Amino acid sequence: MQQYTEPAIVDCPCCGEAVEVLVDLSVPLQEYTEDCPVCCRPMILKVTSGESGLAGVEVRGEND
Ligand SMILES: [Zn+2]
Repeated sequence: MQQYTEPAIVDCPCCGEAVEVLVDLSVPLQEYTEDCPVCCRPMILKVTSGESGLAGVEVRGEND
């Protein structure tokens, strides 16, 4: 059984803290907004996944 979520560490573009997010791997490429648990500002996550799981996470600020 394949697991569709995986924790990933990203650096918040607003406060610079390394935060853990749970990313959804059910589709190969997706972009969504998640609030930073440290500074509570929205960060935009771009998640790519392949057959072996998580392939990459890019993060940027809402206004970048
Ligand atoms: Zn933050």
